[in-house]
Formats: sequence, C-alpha cells, structure tokens
Amino acid sequence: MRYDDFLDADSLARYAAALNQRAGGGQIQLDDLRHLILDSGGRCAWCGADLRRVDFEVDHVQPLARGGAHVLANLALACWPCNRQKAAKSPIQFAQEQAVRGQRTPLVLRLLAAHGLDVLTQRTLFDPPSSSPPLSDDDEPPPYRW
Ligand SMILES: [Zn+2]
Repeated sequence: MRYDDFLDADSLARYAAALNQRAGGGQIQLDDLRHLILDSGGRCAWCGADLRRVDFEVDHVQPLARGGAHVLANLALACWPCNRQKAAKSPIQFAQEQAVRGQRTPLVLRLLAAHGLDVLTQRTLFDPPSSSPPLSDDDEPPPYRW
C-alpha cells in the first residue's frame, strides 16, 4: 500500500480485512487504519523512510508471535525493508539495532526510553560519528502521538 491510498476507502477496507485475517481475527477498522496512516506523517516508524514513495506495511510493534495484541495501539507503519528485518524480533531488540544504525525515530526513542536505555550512551559506545546531514525543518519527524 502507498501513503496516498488513505484517500481510497475501498483499498483501506480491503487492507484492514486482510490485516485482520492474517492476525487470525480482529477488529481493526478502516478508520483505525486511516488514523494510523495519517499519524505516521508518511514516515516509517522504524527508519523514517518517506512512505509516499515506497510501499509500506503495517507492523505489529510487539509481534503477534510474541504475544502482541492485534490492536491499533500495537500497530505502526513500516517500510518493507524494516518490516522484513524486524520480522518476529522483540521491539526493543529491533529498536536497539535501529539506534546503532543511526535511526532515531520517535518509536525507536520511546522504546529505548521505556527500557531505560540511553540512546546517547549507545551512540558513544557503538556508533561511528554520524555522517547524516542535520534535519531541516521540513524533515522533522512528526511528534509522537499517544
Ligand atoms: Zn523503515
């Protein structure tokens, strides 16, 4: 699915139904999916990739295989590569991997903070100096919404 699809109610409804079926049943509705997509700001929750240009998937932050719930609060938009790399890993493990790769999305930072892990300490210990350019105002990630 592409970010622009949020305008297409039929696509959203089909995607929600497929998502619920893959999860073995569930109540994710078209509007839930719409809110999830809009709240993402068009960015992958794990790496910040611009999802307006690439296909994305809906990721269970705590994987279903690890007892994660099939509820909106456990869902995040992810780019295809992130969803494949994460697979059934624990979210904190994948957040640590992303932090080491220099990814500091709101979700990564929230997961690290929730586990008492300091991203700055990790950066000092494991990261080479960042070569990524500073974010411009246009690239600011959207504020995390509870
Ligand atoms: Zn990603």
